[in-house]
Amino acid sequence: MVDKSRNDDDKLPEVMKDPKLKDLTEEKKKNDWLRSINIVVYSIKISRFKEKKSTLEEWMGRDREKQDRFDNASEEAHYCPNDDVLLEVFMKSLHDRMDEDLKVLFFYKCPRCNYREGWYETGEK
Ligand SMILES: [Zn+2]
Repeated sequence: MVDKSRNDDDKLPEVMKDPKLKDLTEEKKKNDWLRSINIVVYSIKISRFKEKKSTLEEWMGRDREKQDRFDNASEEAHYCPNDDVLLEVFMKSLHDRMDEDLKVLFFYKCPRCNYREGWYETGEK
């Protein structure tokens, strides 16, 4: 059986048989391979970054929505059941639960008897 690789090698010009040159070619191949790997890694990083960015924007959008909701919620007139005095809002909080819609809770108190109660902006107690 004929050793084909050796035959091919014999056909190569003398300069190509130089072991140093062979190493150089191997190294070039390795570099090319590394370069293509880097391109793949780089594109993965880019897509992750884009994903991250859109998640961040989504969060920021949600936060802005919450803030707007909180800022724009309007209190209603509620009267003290004890002395019929108009209750004053002393605290406001955002009711934010995964399973429910966003709503703002107002805490009212009576300036006369200090009676307190909480009302959602939606009118629910
Ligand atoms: Zn009262």
